[in-house]
Amino acid sequence: MDKEKIKQAVRMILEAVGEDPDREGLVDTPRRVADFYEEVFAGLHRNPADRLSAIFNEQHEEMVIVRDISFESMCEHHLVPFIGKAHVAYIPNKGRVVGLSKLARIVEDFSRRPQLQERLTSQIADLLMEHLQPQGVLVVVEAEHMCMTMRGVRKPGASTVTSAVRGVFDKSSATRAEAMSLIRGTK
Ligand SMILES: [Zn+2]
Repeated sequence: MDKEKIKQAVRMILEAVGEDPDREGLVDTPRRVADFYEEVFAGLHRNPADRLSAIFNEQHEEMVIVRDISFESMCEHHLVPFIGKAHVAYIPNKGRVVGLSKLARIVEDFSRRPQLQERLTSQIADLLMEHLQPQGVLVVVEAEHMCMTMRGVRKPGASTVTSAVRGVFDKSSATRAEAMSLIRGTK
């Protein structure tokens, strides 16, 4: 990542909004923002498929759900955060399972980029379908978008919910309903 370029750009933005980038409080701001961007966009330089390099064989063909995976991402339209939780469910095929922490890592890899919630949701589902080849995947993402809280319609607290449904979760409404009730914790 070209952090020098980020620093120059932040300095220019400060000048452009009418600030003095050389005043004491702002002097280190370009560097801080460059450090911050390096961290929140680190997923651009990772391949989430690598998280699925170790697939285990377990005699388990029942639903696996990891819920409340917290994430922080950056809305690509405004470069401000959207923050929330992802819930990932899948049903293994031929006992192919993956370490539970890997699901959280995949959410992190995809969220640490300029992102849209809709795309984040489907990227997680599609990666699992392609590389784990389960019977099905269901991903639900809920998030609050700072671009809705701080600007435009200004609706703090509003949450956006997106879902991606693949395989058996798409075909069977009963299986989908079971996963949704487990995700909501109402079962
Ligand atoms: Zn936005």
